Amino acid sequence: MPTGTRRPTFVFAPVVEWRANRLQDPVAKLRFLKQASRRRAQVYDAIRLKEPWQLRIVFMAIALLFFPKHTVSDANSVYAEQLAALNLNATEKFAMVWMVDRNKGYEVYSNGLRVETKYEMPAEEKHQGVFRRYEKETLAQQQIAHPVGIIYHTTESHILPFEQAETKRMQLLGENLIYYVRGKRAYHYVIDRFGRVFRVVPENEEAYHAGYSVWANGDSVYVNLNQSFLAVSFEAQTRDADDQPTVSPAQIHSARVLTDMLRSKYRISGLNCVTHAQVSVNPSNMLIGDHTDWAGNFPFVEMGLRDNYEIPTAGLYAFGLEYDQHYMKSTGVRLWKGLVLAEEQLRQDATSHGLPLATYRRYRQNKLREMLEALKAKGAPEETN
Ligand SMILES: [Zn+2]
Repeated sequence: MPTGTRRPTFVFAPVVEWRANRLQDPVAKLRFLKQASRRRAQVYDAIRLKEPWQLRIVFMAIALLFFPKHTVSDANSVYAEQLAALNLNATEKFAMVWMVDRNKGYEVYSNGLRVETKYEMPAEEKHQGVFRRYEKETLAQQQIAHPVGIIYHTTESHILPFEQAETKRMQLLGENLIYYVRGKRAYHYVIDRFGRVFRVVPENEEAYHAGYSVWANGDSVYVNLNQSFLAVSFEAQTRDADDQPTVSPAQIHSARVLTDMLRSKYRISGLNCVTHAQVSVNPSNMLIGDHTDWAGNFPFVEMGLRDNYEIPTAGLYAFGLEYDQHYMKSTGVRLWKGLVLAEEQLRQDATSHGLPLATYRRYRQNKLREMLEALKAKGAPEETN
């Protein structure tokens, strides 16, 4: 759930700021240009030598930031290939998971998942979820009977060392956390330090977890995801950018069997299983990443999902949003691939609409404004981030 300190100015990446400062000094400028040409050679080497994609993305990002436009278009053809290679329309497989036992306080499922229900909030008509998807171009709304995705969060609560001697205190903290989450209707599910899965908010009711948020999948777009996505939160804390939250193998295992159960029950696309950092937006400055939990290091693959950090970040291509220095610092290299490919998607969409990139970006941003206005007019509660 962490929120970053927003900066009003748009900065493409930390390195741009560094570059701008350096360019004020003519001697430094010369040195920079020499260095840039060396880096350009490195970029082409990286592409030719088929370096691991992480390295290539870093070099590509450097190329985009440092080099004149003709280099950017060279790089675009590489991104277009990578975008096509993602094969986002591939048929998905779902595990078959069903409930085998339900008793006062717990449920057991065929894949070994056990859900603790003793802290679950009683059903309330007024919180009944309204699950919506919108058509990307026309914004036509379609109401659907069930949740369409999962957003993973961290609780950002106090975390003790994972040691046997701390067991009692960890149990106490975990219990306090559940009561806190109940009070805020913050998440549907919480996975505690020991991997126990607690359902707090019923799945067919709204939890207040996503704030201003967007996602897209094919021709469908989603806005303010409390109304269409379930929340699964790990009892964990984000430290700084390169030191992402640590979760235990037990937590990862539980998140995997929980995800499989929810996907099986509601036929949730794996492409709609994403982290809060990927979906959070700030409509007042049109930047993504207002919340940055799980901005890097989320165990997608360990949880039986594809690495969703590498799929194009929907806020960028579906609504023309941008990102700033703070977001770049909070995210890992894995997510940068999603950013770069989303820019490529936006460029391709602009071309197919016959519009210059900047005009198309504004057009998409206006779509988001329109949708938020429409939601407000319908009396949807104002999102708070
Ligand atoms: Zn969150």
